Amino acid sequence: MYNVAFVDDTKCIAEKGCRLCIMYCPESNCITLDKTKMKASVNVNRCKGCDLCAVVCSTHKAITMYPVDGPTGKIVMGHDKAETAGLGQAYAG
Ligand code: SF4
Ligand code: SF4
Repeated sequence: MYNVAFVDDTKCIAEKGCRLCIMYCPESNCITLDKTKMKASVNVNRCKGCDLCAVVCSTHKAITMYPVDGPTGKIVMGHDKAETAGLGQAYAG
């Protein structure tokens, strides 16, 4: 299991100009703007699960970390949020 970020389209306000998560994500081409939906969209294959995007989106709470089932690559939408590494830990080296 590993964790990835998931954007709730009903809470994301990217259509109003917010790009915070896109700016702060340390992985290139990981969160991008879905220009069809005008919502932030996570490329789960690039997400490192660092939680930074969820922190910067704390006002709108549009991003939740969910575990991914390794063999199937599917996001597991359980009852509980995934446990994440402390902010910055994943990039501490
Ligand atoms: S920071 Fe939150 S509200 Fe802003 S674009 Fe990202 S997911 Fe949407
Ligand atoms: S958890 Fe980290 S790597 Fe994944 S989308 Fe959010 S900021 Fe990017």
